[in-house]
Amino acid sequence: MYEVRFHGRGGQGAVMAAQALAEAAVIEDKYAIAFPFFGAERRGAPVLAFTRIHDQKIYSRTQVYTPDCVVVLDDTLLDTVDITHGIKENGIAVINSTKKPEEIELGRKIRTAAVEATSIALELLKAPITNTAILGAFSRATGIVGIDSVEKAIMSRFGEKLGEVAGRKNAGAARMAYDRTETGMSSGGKEHAIRKQWLPEYRELPVGGVLGARTTDAGLIGPGSFIENKTGEWATFRPVRDRNRCTMCLACWFDCPEGCIIRIDNGKDLRTDYGYCKGCGICANECPVDAITMMRL
Ligand code: SF4
Ligand code: SF4
Repeated sequence: MYEVRFHGRGGQGAVMAAQALAEAAVIEDKYAIAFPFFGAERRGAPVLAFTRIHDQKIYSRTQVYTPDCVVVLDDTLLDTVDITHGIKENGIAVINSTKKPEEIELGRKIRTAAVEATSIALELLKAPITNTAILGAFSRATGIVGIDSVEKAIMSRFGEKLGEVAGRKNAGAARMAYDRTETGMSSGGKEHAIRKQWLPEYRELPVGGVLGARTTDAGLIGPGSFIENKTGEWATFRPVRDRNRCTMCLACWFDCPEGCIIRIDNGKDLRTDYGYCKGCGICANECPVDAITMMRL
């Protein structure tokens, strides 16, 4: 049985990727299952999804704890999540990254494939949704499913949901990533300082912990804990406001889900706290005079 664990962020399509991979395996007459695991239902929050592929019926319904492959849709997760946790001895990591495999620090040397999936997604899909591109990289790096089957699965799954044109573009993203994927060994030069995940596990919650602010190994929890959750690390884009165009209508200030647009200068001006701006683009979308432009980081 081949087991895959996807690491992504809410909105990047990790769940769809896991499902499309399972469908590609079924196209090749294999058995496959796919399912997600959500923490906080929040755009940008870490998300897990799993796929199992086998040539016999699959009965296991647990999460994948000892993956043959980990697929990482967003390399900012490498700072907060131990993506190699439990990976099998000969396992492989497939990572969306601008770096070469040997430049990616995973704290240990493991087989690694890297592809600039965000650039491919922006080029072909005009959005940083990397789930289809990363499947092309998976196919290239592992050979567990062929790229033709991946394309067919994407056409079927995405075409059905988003229309034929979108299906074709997404299949094209997978093919482009397949052609551009580089494989090698990760860097294991220094201990990888994994920061504790911002979301504590239930075992770490003190009794009544949700009722008041408490400090745990996972950091601060309860009211006010958002201070420690640097959502700015999730961003692919950053909003830049054109002061000359801005009419100070405050729509962006009101609509920002992170509350990171701050009124300054006695309410006459605004400042965005990039430490917490997750780059969702809602402010740019809501601005009535198009004063905000989302810039790629
Ligand atoms: S992109 Fe805009 S709306 Fe989204 S978190 Fe940043 S400032 Fe707030
Ligand atoms: S929504 Fe646009 S015009 Fe209104 S305050 Fe924000 S940037 Fe300025």
